[in-house]
Amino acid sequence: MAVCRLSLVAASGGYSQVAAHKLHIALASRRGAQTLEYAFRLDVEDGVGIPRIPVHPIGYNDAEILLRYLGGMASPDESWKGRLNVSYNIGPGFLGHDSFRKVRMHVYNINKITRIYNVIGTIRGSVEPDRYVILGGHRDSWVFGGIDPTSGAATLQEVAQSFGKLLSSGWRPRRTIIFASWDAEEFGLLGSTEWAEENVKTLQERSIAYINSDSSIEGNYTLRVDCTPLLHQLVYKLTKEISSPDDGFESKSLYESWLAKDPSSKSKTLPRISKLGSGSDFEAYFQRLGIASGRVRYTKNRKTDTYSSYPVYHTIYETFELVEKFYDPTFKKQLAVAQLRGALVYELADSKVIPFNIQDYAKTLENYARSIYNLSRKHEQACRHHGVSFESLFSAVKNFSEAASDFHRRLSQVDLNNPMAVRILNDQLMFLERAFIDPLGLPGRPFYRHIIFAPSSHNKYAGESFPGIFDAMFDIENKADPHSAWKEVKKHISIAAFTIQAAAGTLKESL
Ligand SMILES: [Zn+2]
Repeated sequence: MAVCRLSLVAASGGYSQVAAHKLHIALASRRGAQTLEYAFRLDVEDGVGIPRIPVHPIGYNDAEILLRYLGGMASPDESWKGRLNVSYNIGPGFLGHDSFRKVRMHVYNINKITRIYNVIGTIRGSVEPDRYVILGGHRDSWVFGGIDPTSGAATLQEVAQSFGKLLSSGWRPRRTIIFASWDAEEFGLLGSTEWAEENVKTLQERSIAYINSDSSIEGNYTLRVDCTPLLHQLVYKLTKEISSPDDGFESKSLYESWLAKDPSSKSKTLPRISKLGSGSDFEAYFQRLGIASGRVRYTKNRKTDTYSSYPVYHTIYETFELVEKFYDPTFKKQLAVAQLRGALVYELADSKVIPFNIQDYAKTLENYARSIYNLSRKHEQACRHHGVSFESLFSAVKNFSEAASDFHRRLSQVDLNNPMAVRILNDQLMFLERAFIDPLGLPGRPFYRHIIFAPSSHNKYAGESFPGIFDAMFDIENKADPHSAWKEVKKHISIAAFTIQAAAGTLKESL
């Protein structure tokens, strides 16, 4: 019974096993199939994130049989255990009289360089054509992709069509809008990352914001927003202008149903907004380039449904019928999400002053600094012994808060008829997110360069604040060399303090 014969058929590893880098596996192509013939390509075995052992997800019916008979040590950490009724030993080999058994895997993964297609559409800005607002989402799917990505790809199409209608009425946005339909997201965010790499110099000089248009539903309970703190106020404002699609909230706004169903844990008067992690195409734009980013979609009830993602995620059961019959029969939830994505793009591209709020960033930094400091207090004695202090971090955050207040005071007084004065402040708003980028990246993760946010080292879909300090302190009581471990913590406190202080500097009128 324990001999399972698994036939594994897949084109390549799934997203969680494959990291993105242009030199590794795919060849991007756009506008008449241009190719980067001169790109130097690493051998597959040198590729970052390409699985070194055959990896393929299987259903729990099959997994349970394998796990039930697994021998060896018990799993060293509770978090390694799932919810199946098995002991979660980690092997090697099987238990007792089944120890002679082996699992034969037939693996048909193919690693190859192949052509992918990103479809890019632009609306040239009428006043500031050199400033970009990007709406991007992927088009490829694991199987039929009824939810992921089609509920988002359709949204992207609808938003593009709406802007087309505005154009035909004679309207033009102030800034350039870029619509991007990415290929090969499920293979490791390849299409979006290739395009970010190819256009890196212009994107980091000119991008105002990136709004993601992956799946617009992962549930049908309420709105879910993950975004840079710069966008919080804009999201609140726009959701107050959009009708709620929820039963029982007729004639109420999206903001009202969202606040009633998912209030923030910090303030009961505001709906919850979370930080960005990864797992979708905004990664290269936010975590690597420091372009202000956000994603919005409909989600499940987080209080009653604690499973990660939704039950049919990435499976053959994700069909259009599933969406039409069960998830969103009236298509009102997807409409609300499309309205919000479209409105974000519209406001970012057309407002004279970029609708970012830096004081919200300051408040967020205060909260994060407090929580990472509280985490350190579990090791109070060690901190004292190794001379670890968070003073510089708190001081930098205070300076940033003051610079943010002063900046918003100047912004409220700017002469809107003076194009140079407006452009100076808009450039400071645009470049603020970029100021949190450390060109050296995080330890062992050169493509994650945002000092305030990174995908969690333990769950790529989730976000972590002050990831450098957090990772340096992770499991620190079990480090072989406590002195160098705490030295690493001190280094990352210093990097964070420097980065925030430097970001505050960019908000000043002059040096
Ligand atoms: Zn997706």
